[in-house]
Amino acid sequence: MSKLQTFLEFLYQKYQPLKFGNLASYIPQLAKANPEWLAISIVSTDGTVVEIGDFQENFTIQSISKVFLYGMALEDCGREALLGKVGVEPTGDPFDSVIRLDENSKHPDNPMVNAGAIATTSLIRGKETTDRLNRILEMFRRYMNRDVFVDVSVFMSEKATGHRNRALANLLLNFGIIDHNIEEILDLYFQQCSIVVNCHDLAMMAATLANRGIHPISKEQAVQPDYVRDILSVMYTCGMYNYAGEWAYKVGIPAKSGVSGGIIGVVPGKAGIAVFSPLIDPRGNSIRGVRIFEDLSQEFGFHLLDVSMGRCKFLDCL
Ligand code: GLU
Repeated sequence: MSKLQTFLEFLYQKYQPLKFGNLASYIPQLAKANPEWLAISIVSTDGTVVEIGDFQENFTIQSISKVFLYGMALEDCGREALLGKVGVEPTGDPFDSVIRLDENSKHPDNPMVNAGAIATTSLIRGKETTDRLNRILEMFRRYMNRDVFVDVSVFMSEKATGHRNRALANLLLNFGIIDHNIEEILDLYFQQCSIVVNCHDLAMMAATLANRGIHPISKEQAVQPDYVRDILSVMYTCGMYNYAGEWAYKVGIPAKSGVSGGIIGVVPGKAGIAVFSPLIDPRGNSIRGVRIFEDLSQEFGFHLLDVSMGRCKFLDCL
C-alpha cells in the first residue's frame, strides 16, 4: 500500500467520527443527505488514483460548478470582455449576499459568488436555452470523462426556493449586467448546480485543471490551457466562501467548495484532490473537508507559497 493510501486511511479514521455541522437545508432536497458520508479522492496528473470511503456516492455539484462555468465563459467571451462584466475581487461576504452588489460594486465582484455565477451563466453561448444547457453538459463530460446529467428533483427544489438568487438576478438586470430573460438564466444556473457528481469525478475534474486543462486519462482538452491560470487565480482568492483568506493562509492551494459538502483542490502540475462530507459550517464549507485538506497540505507540503526544501513530497508517496 502506498504512503498516500495509508495516510488517507488514517485521515478517514480520524475524521469519520466527527459529527459537527449541519446539512444544507435551505435547498430542501439537500437536507436528505446522509451525514455519515465521507470520501477522499486524489488523482495525479498522470492518472494515478488513490481514494477512500464513499467516493462513489452521488450528490449535486452545487457551487463547485462555478469554477467550470467561469472557464467556459472565458472561452466564449475572452478575458477582457468578461472582466468588464464580472470582477475578480474577493468579497469576504456570504456567497448569496445582495448588499455589496446593490450598495457598492453594481457588478459581481467575482465569479465564485452567486451574483458572479449567474452573470457568467448568462454569457454562455447557444441559440436556444437547450443548446446552452447541452454545451454546458458537454463541457462537464470532458472534465469527468463520462455522461453527465442533472438531478431534476434538486433543480426543482432550487427553482422553488431560490428567492435570493432571483433577487440577485433582478439587480444584475437593473445594473445592465444580464438581459431580461431572468427565468431562463436562473434555470440554467440552477441546472448546473444540480449536476450529479461523486468524489472521484470531482478529483478527476480538479486533476484536469492541475494538468493544464487536459483530462489525465482520456487526454481530452476540457478547457483551453490559456484560461487555466485565470480559473485557478479566482479559486485561490475567492473559492472558499468567506473563509478564502484563512484557507489561502493555512492550506495554500486553489480550491472551491459547495453547500452539498464537496471541496476540490488543485495542486498545479501535480494533482487534483476532492473531499466529500455533507456536514457544513455556517459559511457553507464541509467541516471534515476543511480539516482533511489542512492535514493533507501539512503532511505533503502542498502550500504553493512555501519554498522550503523538500516541499511537495507528494509525488514520491503515490
Ligand atoms: N445552488 C446553490 C445556490 O445558488 C449553490 C450554493 C452553493 O453551493 O454555494 O444557492
